[in-house]
Amino acid sequence: MTGAASPSVTHPPRNLATVSFPLPSTLTPSKLGRFVNCPLAFRYSYIEHLPEPASIYQLRGTLVHVVLQQLFAEVTPCERTPERARAILEAAWPAFRSDDEFLALELDEAATASFLREIHSLLARYFALEDPTQVRPVGVELDLHAEVDGIDLHGIIDRLDHLPDGRFVLVDYKTGRSPRAERSRSRLTGVQFYALLCERVLGVRPSEVRLMYLGDQVVVVDEPTDQSMRGLRQRATAVWAAIERACATEDFRPNPSPLCKTCAFRGTCPAVAAESNLVGAAR
Ligand code: SF4
Repeated sequence: MTGAASPSVTHPPRNLATVSFPLPSTLTPSKLGRFVNCPLAFRYSYIEHLPEPASIYQLRGTLVHVVLQQLFAEVTPCERTPERARAILEAAWPAFRSDDEFLALELDEAATASFLREIHSLLARYFALEDPTQVRPVGVELDLHAEVDGIDLHGIIDRLDHLPDGRFVLVDYKTGRSPRAERSRSRLTGVQFYALLCERVLGVRPSEVRLMYLGDQVVVVDEPTDQSMRGLRQRATAVWAAIERACATEDFRPNPSPLCKTCAFRGTCPAVAAESNLVGAAR
C-alpha cells in the first residue's frame, strides 16, 4: 500500500428522540474549543451529556481553584499568606477526597499523597508568581452571561482585579504548563471571551488579560483591543453557526488528533474504532 490510508468512519447512530439535535442554550469558551477541536466530542459532551469522568489533571485544577477562590473571597488582603492557603487546603481536603469524582480516580494511598503534594507545590508556585496581599479583586468566580449577536455567551471568570490607576485586569489560573508559542494564541481565545463578557455585562473592558500557568510559573499577558474583540465576536458567530448547522443536519464529524489520547469518549468513538481496525488489519 502506498501513502497513509484514512480510516473509514461510520457516523454513530442517533440515539436521541428528536428529529434534529437540540442546540445547547449557551456558548462558553469550553464549548467553543471543544467544537473546533472535535465536533463529535462536542456532541457527546454537550448534547448527549455522556458521562465524562474528570481526569486527575482536571481535579488538580478544581482543588487549586477552590483554594485560590477562598483566599481572595474570604480572607483580608494582609492575611493572604502561604500559611493561610495551606490552612484552606487542609480544611477543604477531607470533603474533596471523599467526593465521588475523586474516588472514581481510584488512587491508592501513595498516589493520593502525591496528588496532595502536587497541590501544595502548585500553590507554592502561585505565591512565587504574585503577592496576593497586594491584589484588590472586585470579583472572583464571576458568573457572567451576555447576549452577543444573538448568542447567549456564558463564562466564569476566575478573578477580576481593580488596579490603583483605575484599570481592570482579568486573571485566569491554569494548573498546567504554558503552551508553545504556536498554540498560545488559541489559548488566549478563552480569556478574550471573558474580556468580551466583562465589557458587555460590567461595562468595562479589562486593559489586560493574564493567564497564570502555575505548572511552569509563566504568566501570559494580552491586551484586549477593538480588533481582538471584533475578532472574537466573529469567531464566536462562525462557530455558533457551524454548531447550528451540525445540529440541524445531525452531522458531528470526529476529528482525530493528539487530543484523542485523553478523550473520555475513546470507547464510544467510531474514529478510534476505525483506527484500531486499520492497525489490526495491517498486522
Ligand atoms: S476520540 Fe478523538 S475523534 Fe473521537 S470523539 Fe474523542 S477527540 Fe473526537
